[in-house]
Amino acid sequence: MIHKQKIISDKNLLPNLLDFTLEEMEEFISSLGKEKFRARQISKCLYQSGNVSFEEMTTLARDFRTELSKIARISRPQIVKVQKSKDSTKKALLRLEDGLFIESVLIPGKNNWTICISTQAGCAMDCKFCLTARQGFKRNLKPSEITGQILTLKSELPQCPEIKNIVMMGMGEPLANYNNVLKTIKNLSGDFGMGFSTRKITVSTCGLAPQILRLGKDICVNLAVSLNAPNNEIRNKLMPINKKYPLEVLLDACKKYPMPGRRLLTFEYILIDGLNSSVQDAKKLVALLKGQRCKLNLIVLNEYPGSLFKSPSKKTVEAFQQVLLENHYTAILRASKGSDILAACGQLSATAVSL
Ligand code: SAH
Repeated sequence: MIHKQKIISDKNLLPNLLDFTLEEMEEFISSLGKEKFRARQISKCLYQSGNVSFEEMTTLARDFRTELSKIARISRPQIVKVQKSKDSTKKALLRLEDGLFIESVLIPGKNNWTICISTQAGCAMDCKFCLTARQGFKRNLKPSEITGQILTLKSELPQCPEIKNIVMMGMGEPLANYNNVLKTIKNLSGDFGMGFSTRKITVSTCGLAPQILRLGKDICVNLAVSLNAPNNEIRNKLMPINKKYPLEVLLDACKKYPMPGRRLLTFEYILIDGLNSSVQDAKKLVALLKGQRCKLNLIVLNEYPGSLFKSPSKKTVEAFQQVLLENHYTAILRASKGSDILAACGQLSATAVSL
């Protein structure tokens, strides 16, 4: 038994092919003295055929597969549990190799499905309204663990719907795990990867201004920024990151961000009772966003057991939205999906409670 455990842990030290970008895979394959195009074949097996073992990679010669299986591995998160909401939203609890848990959510839309994926186990940003923040930061997810959420759900969830959009709005702060998130986006969008258009991928951030600028230079995906306040005073109370990158710095980075096509950057704004949701707050928000090309997603705060804040009344929400509409902003009130199974924004925790 001890012997078997040792083999397993040694095996975990081998590189996981799902952590490589195509360029890294090419380098790896070249280092074995093989032709570079083999890397593309392997990528297709991993991302397009969803292969999880070397035996399944029948487009590769048998000897090569055997060789690969001795020096590399393929590992993805495992589904532990799936919950289905009244509105058809599905939340999956996934287990990572080191025993940590993360969550991914499948959200139905009018004509297609969106997958909301996690980029960290836990989160270090400490936003005061968010349940994920309560559990603190555990670690960054590797590319295999981020892309792996989609691959695993696609191949293991019975009747997994076709996924059209990917949003990095699950657990964690994507831009605090910059390198792995960038690698993941490359693997999600590459021709030899999953083939998603970069216009179908959205990164959501609490506002790491320098990384927003960096992302804009590295790759062109949709950006959503969790704004949640009309001024620094309120934002400081809700989101500690605002002390490091206050609104002036954040909005300047947003202005410089090159969105794909003619798309608009999204500001997410959680409406919290008595804090940021009055008509006065809406007017301040309009003034703050003057000259900013953007649209707004209004999210009514999702409460969870022990949550510090309350959600505002329907009347308050409508009055807030009305001010924005009158000022010609696109301001969509996001129906929060999956709140009955704690799958809505800010409700992901993947703690033992979920088990
Ligand atoms: N760290 C990233 C992505 C994770 S949070 C970010 O901050 O954008 C994803 C979205 O859920 C954010 O817009 C966040 O503001 C929102 N959110 C967090 N807690 C929430 C809650 N309790 N109710 C409603 N939305 C919440």
